[in-house]
Amino acid sequence: MTINDAPREESASPPRHSSDRIPVAGPWITELEERYVAEAARNAWYSNANIWHERFERAFAERVNRRFAMALPSCTSAIHLTLAALGIGPGDEVIVPELTWIATAAPVTYVGATPVFCDIDSANWCISPQSAEQRITPRTRAIIAVDLYGSMPDMDALRELTERHNIALIEDAAEAVGSRFRNQPAGSFGDASVFSFHGSKTLTTGEGGILVTNDEALFTRAATLRDHGRKPGDTMFFNHEVAFKYKMSAMQAAMGLAQTERLNELVTRKREIFSWYRERLAGCDAITLNPELQHTFNSYWMVTAIFDRATQRTSSTLMPALDACGIDTRPFFHPLSSLPAYSAHPQTHSARRENPIAYDLAPRGINLPTHLRMTEDDVHRVCNALQPLAT
Ligand SMILES: *Cc1c(COP(=O)(O)O)cnc(C)c1O
Repeated sequence: MTINDAPREESASPPRHSSDRIPVAGPWITELEERYVAEAARNAWYSNANIWHERFERAFAERVNRRFAMALPSCTSAIHLTLAALGIGPGDEVIVPELTWIATAAPVTYVGATPVFCDIDSANWCISPQSAEQRITPRTRAIIAVDLYGSMPDMDALRELTERHNIALIEDAAEAVGSRFRNQPAGSFGDASVFSFHGSKTLTTGEGGILVTNDEALFTRAATLRDHGRKPGDTMFFNHEVAFKYKMSAMQAAMGLAQTERLNELVTRKREIFSWYRERLAGCDAITLNPELQHTFNSYWMVTAIFDRATQRTSSTLMPALDACGIDTRPFFHPLSSLPAYSAHPQTHSARRENPIAYDLAPRGINLPTHLRMTEDDVHRVCNALQPLAT
């Protein structure tokens, strides 16, 4: 794959992606990111080792209306740390939606607890509060809600549900930076929210993640756990417990700050790419694109097409057909309970019946190219390949 060099000057549009293949995801990096990262490489040492982390964490916390933010190596580590800081462990259960990346659920196993899979809501593709409620037992300690592909779950219902049962609500906003629910930003819901800055995400630091919260006690506990059990500010290298080491580098934080300053531009571009697809596929009744319900603002991390049952198309036939046209796609997430990774899980045999919407939707969906350097012509090329398959 060949990619044009980024231009030296700041530009309102990304440099065109010159390859014949259309990749599914990828960032938009400008001179601002290059400058901040170079500055960090020069000056983020000695007494300045943490200045870029502090700037990035402050800017990001402000964007998502949170008091505290902690930059981390990944979203996976952010979820692990959140569960550990909440004291969730062996014997506990944590409810997660069936349709999400496995990173939402895997950290539940890291802390020795059990993930419990619930269904999604067909209207917004996110966790169904009704289905989650049916999975609550005396062992349930938390619900992890996922803002799938930039869509938002019914946060009002989830807040009411978790408060009524006195369990934690964790928002996995890895895919939704810039989205909003009732005008509140993704990342502002529940006891804590987490984001991913992986290279495929809308805002990237290459690899990275962040934990945001308004809960000072939770934040302080996470700060100890992420630094080998040292209390924040400890200068005696005195470890109170065996814990973890989770921190991003100053160069990554510098890139994160530049991307945060450009967040509106990044989200505007994602929405523009979605609007090109929506216009072009408007007459195509057999394809449903990402939902954007009333009171919701979708940042459309990944444009996703669900094929009508009547077409009998599935991701395993659609993906090779598009691949042959030079178009990279991804399958909609598989129901977690259907994966070999969970073949010994208690719900392996019951989940298809318990979570019918997830099992119905997943095989019929694919993620279309939504990388940040796409042109309208690229979108037309994808749609030209897609439309004959939608009959
Ligand atoms: C990308 C993603 C993650 C994991 O992010 P990493 O930074 O790769 O650990 C977690 N949850 C969801 C929903 C994701 O899409």
